[in-house]
Amino acid sequence: MSEKIYVGLDLGGTAIKVGLCNEQGHLLQSYEGPTGTGSGTPAIIDNIVKYIRELVDQSPYSWDQVEGIGAGMAGFIDIENGIVLLAPNVDFRDVPIRDILVERLGKPVKINNDANVAALGEAWSGAGKGVGNCVCYTLGTGVGGGIIINGKIYEGFSGLAGELGHIAVVPDLEAIQCGCGKMGCLETVSSATGIIRMAKDAVSRGDRTSLSLLDSITAKDVFDAAKAGDEAAERIVSRAAYYLGKSMAAVTTILNPERYIIGGGVSKAGDFLFDQIREVFRELTPETLQKGVEIVPATLGNDAGMIGAAGLFIRS
Ligand SMILES: [Zn+2]
Repeated sequence: MSEKIYVGLDLGGTAIKVGLCNEQGHLLQSYEGPTGTGSGTPAIIDNIVKYIRELVDQSPYSWDQVEGIGAGMAGFIDIENGIVLLAPNVDFRDVPIRDILVERLGKPVKINNDANVAALGEAWSGAGKGVGNCVCYTLGTGVGGGIIINGKIYEGFSGLAGELGHIAVVPDLEAIQCGCGKMGCLETVSSATGIIRMAKDAVSRGDRTSLSLLDSITAKDVFDAAKAGDEAAERIVSRAAYYLGKSMAAVTTILNPERYIIGGGVSKAGDFLFDQIREVFRELTPETLQKGVEIVPATLGNDAGMIGAAGLFIRS
């Protein structure tokens, strides 16, 4: 019998990524094309259909071998009914994407939130391989999250479980408002946006820092300065790390996961960041609960979304 394969779709505002995975979670082939944001919902859907067809046509696999198509999408998703309620990055509103793709492609389709899908990808064939319970953080413009319990995505009551970026960790006196409207969320201090904001605050306060010499500041600039011994930058990094570690201590008391997986642009700072997070985690988590728990970098990079989307058929 010929091998079964699965399509994983990662729909982003700039690019649509489609990949073919086997049942073991190996990405066999992938393709990336422009989303066409701004050209309207039907045009974007046409692109999705076209890229999936081309991907399979240009692979050594036949369309008959495709068992299903999984899709990860940003925004508010009705997972059960396969509807994108609102996805500002692609301008989708109340789009019944699952049924549309089933009709256009004639294969079963499953959709889920992009952060959940990336977490599933890492758990299935990345940094969480072989680990049943793990929690993933994505540190980018915001802080995304996904929870994997017994190898499967934990969705929660309305599909919104794992919104780790909005755990209120910053004490009231130091808290600022988050994009979600609430105060003191993790995202306000540990995302790239939060790190840049703290750096700009330090510069405008007149703190002595090499960052004041830059025209514009990126999160990487802050890490580079901190690694070079700039004290103001060091304080910013340790603050970002502190609240990440603190949030993990809290999550640990609730879920007792075996592994924390951290991905996204900010995680590229490597051990300089990870060692500080681990130290805070050890400090704040009860001894018995921290035993055997690891905090590790994600390994799949941008492929996590495609692999996890395909995994919706194997691991759900
Ligand atoms: Zn928030």
